[in-house]
Amino acid sequence: MATDKDATTPDDAELRARLTPLQYQVTREKGTERAFTGAYAHHKEAGVYRCVCCGADLFSSTTKYDSGSGWPSFWLPLAGDNVRTHVDRSHGMVRTEVSCAQCDAHLGHVFDDGPRPSGQRFCINSASLAFEPDPAAGK
Ligand code: FE
Repeated sequence: MATDKDATTPDDAELRARLTPLQYQVTREKGTERAFTGAYAHHKEAGVYRCVCCGADLFSSTTKYDSGSGWPSFWLPLAGDNVRTHVDRSHGMVRTEVSCAQCDAHLGHVFDDGPRPSGQRFCINSASLAFEPDPAAGK
């Protein structure tokens, strides 16, 4: 697990002031929003999903799909370097946690039951994302 912080890591006091309690709990305390409650679970607009903490580009609408899980699901990150994965042994399970490579925000988990071509399912909390619509969409 990465513990190194760089200049792009948001200030904790700033995050507490800016984020909702749920956004803070998910991203900084590895929380999970309840299934089917997140803003982006069934969101289908074209655009980019950014880290709610630091603004890094994390996922694209082009790789979002409906997994039926109740959380936003993607079969690929926007750029592999923008997310980091590591083994998570909490809650009596062995899962692969996904976090923002730039600020360490907890995003969700990745599973190997996704669709082709990657076979991966990035199961991400809406609360860790900020959607930026594609300006070219709908024109
Ligand atoms: Fe981030």
